[in-house]
Amino acid sequence: MALKTGAEYIESLRALDIKVYMFGELVENPVDHPIIRPSINAVAMTYELANQPEYEDLMTATSNLTGEKVNRFTHLHQSTDDLRKKVKMLRLLGQKTATCFQRCVGMDAFNAVFSTTYEIDKKYNTNYHDNFVKYLKFVQENDLTIDGAMTDPKGNRGLAPSQQADPDLFLRIVEEREDGIVVRGAKAHQTGSINSHEHLIMPTIAMREGDEAYAVSFAVPTDADGIFMIYGRQSCDTRKLEEGADIDLGNKTFGGQEALVVFDDVFIPKDRIFLKGEVDFAGVLVERFAGYHRQSYGGCKVGVGDVLIGAAATAAEFNGAHKASHVKDKLIEMTHLNETLYCCGIACSAEGYPTEAGNYQIDLLLANVCKQNVTRFPYEITRLAEDIAGGLMVTMPSEKDFKHPKLGPICEKYFSGVEGVPTEHRMRILRLIENMTLGTAAVGYRTESMHGAGSPQAQRIMIARQSNLEHKKDLAKKIAGIK
Ligand code: SF4
Ligand code: FE
Repeated sequence: MALKTGAEYIESLRALDIKVYMFGELVENPVDHPIIRPSINAVAMTYELANQPEYEDLMTATSNLTGEKVNRFTHLHQSTDDLRKKVKMLRLLGQKTATCFQRCVGMDAFNAVFSTTYEIDKKYNTNYHDNFVKYLKFVQENDLTIDGAMTDPKGNRGLAPSQQADPDLFLRIVEEREDGIVVRGAKAHQTGSINSHEHLIMPTIAMREGDEAYAVSFAVPTDADGIFMIYGRQSCDTRKLEEGADIDLGNKTFGGQEALVVFDDVFIPKDRIFLKGEVDFAGVLVERFAGYHRQSYGGCKVGVGDVLIGAAATAAEFNGAHKASHVKDKLIEMTHLNETLYCCGIACSAEGYPTEAGNYQIDLLLANVCKQNVTRFPYEITRLAEDIAGGLMVTMPSEKDFKHPKLGPICEKYFSGVEGVPTEHRMRILRLIENMTLGTAAVGYRTESMHGAGSPQAQRIMIARQSNLEHKKDLAKKIAGIK
């Protein structure tokens, strides 16, 4: 099948019988729900841009499995050039949506599962790689969005999966049948889960003997029997429910999405299983997926940062502060930080290497440095954006006041900035900054920068492992003349 358009993607979601709860109620029509729809629009952009000739090179690729043109979000990276294009594609989408567009977790999962299943089969003579290749062809041919789902609820962080007081705190196999397995548990913080046609499940940590039931990877339709979701709240989310909401939303069209995905005894047929009990490969899968997703942040967060820098510069222009040297310098600092993140994303891609299975892996050390910087720099960029925006960003009356017959003219008068710039434009740009730093999009730009693709300490462990300190000590000793 050819590439789907954005509209076709949205229609395809209507065919799914997704069970999602929000505010304690089952959502009857998730696709048109005002809180959910902006997140669907963001994913739709991954389809829309792939159909635009000017973005074809970034947004599409030739499948190594079928020889057909596919959306890059379903592609297995065939070179360092592919890895770089991935980062550029994510930056582009960040620029176009100013939020998390969700589809990357699937792409990162495909690449991690592809190479890992190849190595499991080689060691254990299993059939996972064939299962996965067949599955990925299905994904590519139907241009599907997949939630690459890794994070378990984890319960007591000091205990292994099999030692937890409640055995379901890590997703596990509860029954083995001739034709497949039954799984129970949950995946938390799942980005884009309601907007995904399918889920690709992976274990969340390295595992040891005794954790066999937890070392499991498989694919399952999002509306399979036994799966349901509970929608994650975001700061200011109910503004989207306000009648005629527009300016106060900051970003009316696009948004991100996270949810708890519950697996209440879900059957998985044999040919959709990619890991079952080989505990020694759980850690490999985690490391590879996390590595790819840490690379991803050197693209998506940079694109969102581009919008935030542009918004701060515009806000300064609208109140006449743009010529002040400290404002110019703050914009330079924001740009410096943002481009440093991009450098990391590009560098870990350029230093990528082929796996045994043939697809390309990023440089793990550089990808972890990338994400470690992402846990810090967007916070500083946000701080500077708030500095430039001024207090009005958080004290401004609502758009209803601006539209009020008596209050409107007063708001217009006292919140005007530079002559010739409509006060509404000033409001719009400040609300956009608010949305990205404190509102719904702050999930993606701030807290997700901290914890998405693994919390800071997870990267520090990987940096320690990859840092080759012995080599560095040898270098120093040699120069210092120590034998
Ligand atoms: Fe994609 Fe970034 Fe969202 Fe992860 S945080 S799904 S990389 S947009
Ligand atoms: Fe993320």
